Amino acid sequence: MVSAKAVRFNYRLRVSPAQERALLVEWDGVRFVWNRCVEASKKAQVASSPEHKVTCGPAALDKMLTAWRKELDWLRAGSSVPQQQVIRDFGRARAKTLQDVKDRLPVRQRRGMPGFKSRHRSAPSLNYSRRGFSLHEDPATGRLRLHLAGGIVVRPVWSRPLPSPASSVRVYRDAVGGWFCSFVVVAAQEPLPAVDRAIGIDWGVAVIATTTDDDHDLAHPQRRRSAQAKLAHYQRMMARRKPKKGKPVSTGYKVAKRQVAKLHRQVARQRSDDARKWAKGVVVDFDQIAAEDFRPRFLARSTMAKKAADAAIGATKAALVHMADKHGRDLRLVDPAYTTMDCSICGARAKHRLDLSERTYACEACGMVLPRDKNAAAVMVVRAGFVPLVLRAQDQGRSLRSWLPEPGIPRLQPWGGFKGASPSLRAGGRRGRPRRRSRSEAYGASCVGAGCVGAGCDAVLLAAGCAAAGYLGAGASPFASSHAR
Ligand SMILES: [Zn+2]
Repeated sequence: MVSAKAVRFNYRLRVSPAQERALLVEWDGVRFVWNRCVEASKKAQVASSPEHKVTCGPAALDKMLTAWRKELDWLRAGSSVPQQQVIRDFGRARAKTLQDVKDRLPVRQRRGMPGFKSRHRSAPSLNYSRRGFSLHEDPATGRLRLHLAGGIVVRPVWSRPLPSPASSVRVYRDAVGGWFCSFVVVAAQEPLPAVDRAIGIDWGVAVIATTTDDDHDLAHPQRRRSAQAKLAHYQRMMARRKPKKGKPVSTGYKVAKRQVAKLHRQVARQRSDDARKWAKGVVVDFDQIAAEDFRPRFLARSTMAKKAADAAIGATKAALVHMADKHGRDLRLVDPAYTTMDCSICGARAKHRLDLSERTYACEACGMVLPRDKNAAAVMVVRAGFVPLVLRAQDQGRSLRSWLPEPGIPRLQPWGGFKGASPSLRAGGRRGRPRRRSRSEAYGASCVGAGCVGAGCDAVLLAAGCAAAGYLGAGASPFASSHAR
């Protein structure tokens, strides 16, 4: 089934100095309305009591806007559409704060009450609903121009056509000073041909995405590091030209500040380009995508915060979700709990969390040894309910690839340790360091019985994956060969 969804299509705008002046005058009126809304909301908050509730929602503010426009000639000269739309924006921001308070969110997680917008610090942003804009052909060039309420005409750079008539448009300026417009349109899904292949994705900092397919691993592109020298140069320029307190800002300072903003914009675009290209590749080659539902916020408080921010894991995940949605692929987000502790072959769970320095996962139950992130990526496939990759490979008579035990891979030794495994994986401790834990303590495994092959089996079968493959039931256990030893 092909479904359609409201999405944003963004375009750069060509704006002449006269048009920019007109847009900024319009923005002054809109900003004034916003600030009046903040004032009214503050008054309502003070006047409100449990017995006598004073509301300050969009309906009440709309009435106030009529009065303000009656009172002030210059405000009435501006278009009413963006002024009414900013009341909607304000209402949404205020409602979110009130909801957070109602939900008793901790103060640091709460959205703050919307504040005043300063002329110097706030970026212009004008929203026009359906009746506030139209597209007309330019008789000279034959291209469509954007006519805004209030008589402002701007020229979008049509990098791609609009898929359907737009329901609203937002015209805004970024930190560098470029103008853009963003149309809300309904875009149909673009389904890709089925390929019947599954991929598991584990997010990380050193390698942004480790996948079960080596060709689709996404290495850290180090965009920040590449821009670092230039950035430091411009930031030094800014620091040297910083105005004394109370003194006006010099042109040189503004130039340096613009260069910093430009560099940040360039790096941000490189990151989003990397993410989108990688996501497109994954979506084209695989129709079953199991990605870790990673919440990277905690990384911002760690020692690798800078590198993690440069990796843009959240943006990469968002690009993947968007791309899968656009092309009708089956994307499942997997809870990351225990994905580094479970074995992707037999499902046995290690008793203790692996240290971040331990890069190899060795399963005590089946003897499988794999790079830690590759194992986690394969676990994603199983957890998502797709046919486990190892079963798929067996079914298709292909080699079992890298996530199966290979000849010469360390096996469990009678003394309870691993031959050939890294020292940290061996039983017991090393002299001079506190003994951490023994192997048997570290890897506790139990059998749940479903499809259990009997004595010697101490693995938990991955019920979800087996059920998906139609493999449940003793005798038919696909794991027989791997853990009945
Ligand atoms: Zn195992």
